[in-house]
Amino acid sequence: MILNPIPWPNGAKCACAITFDMDADSLIHVSRPNDGHQRLYPISMGRYGPTVAVPRILETYRRLGLKQSFFIPGWCLENYPDAVEAILKGGHEIGHHGWIHEDPIVTAGGQREPFEKALRAHEKICGRRPKGYRAPVYNVTPEVVDLLIEHGFDYDSSLMADDIPYRMKTDAGVLYEMPVHWGTDDWPPFAHYDEIGYMMPVRSPSAGLAGFWEEFEAQYEAGGFFMLIVHPFLTGRLARWRLVEQWLENILNSHDVWFAPLEEICDHVKSVEQAGTAKIRTENLPYYDIPQK
Ligand SMILES: [Zn+2]
Repeated sequence: MILNPIPWPNGAKCACAITFDMDADSLIHVSRPNDGHQRLYPISMGRYGPTVAVPRILETYRRLGLKQSFFIPGWCLENYPDAVEAILKGGHEIGHHGWIHEDPIVTAGGQREPFEKALRAHEKICGRRPKGYRAPVYNVTPEVVDLLIEHGFDYDSSLMADDIPYRMKTDAGVLYEMPVHWGTDDWPPFAHYDEIGYMMPVRSPSAGLAGFWEEFEAQYEAGGFFMLIVHPFLTGRLARWRLVEQWLENILNSHDVWFAPLEEICDHVKSVEQAGTAKIRTENLPYYDIPQK
């Protein structure tokens, strides 16, 4: 059970979001800066995302009438303009996902420059500032939270302190969290990427996705929030996306769910909080000021 459930629009039982992180081949360039550009296999694996998977995913969304969220590094916005244009044309949200997928903890103390470079790419290519952020590899630092508040972001979607959206409060202000979890992320079941240190046994499509659907059933029963954190080059592949598409058709036909982009879900959370119809839990940040020993 969830002790402080959020009432969803039109009495829906569960808020749902399928969020794609369109990393493309940024991963190999940031992890192998000297020779990544010569590694054609990982480049090709990443390029499959914007070139083959994204059009397929967008077609499903168009057919089913869904608007969803994509998180895209600034470098990918610049290098894959056709995919970006198609995503925007479909009415979907594009959130901030770093410049070239740099890990914020590795660049600790120096996040402002890549963060703001990515913001400028959003303004130039998407024509708007993003409202949401997801940290590459989920590594949000207090420095990043401060940058998000300074730049007027509504939400982060990288942290794990609750099942449903919550507030984060710092001395600088407030930010909402649309919480993620490894149980609804496609990296563990589907990623196999030796060059960046992931040697995982790839699960079959049905086995890899089965855990996600169990997560959905629990959230649905509790009136919660179900979000997938997936990648076009992994879950957008033919056999996997076929199963996701079938699942979507079934859920839309048989369940009372509210699919929306995260920015809309965040707006709703804010409105019910202001109306006093939901109690949104607050986490005070930073958790620690000094190393704990
Ligand atoms: Zn990513």
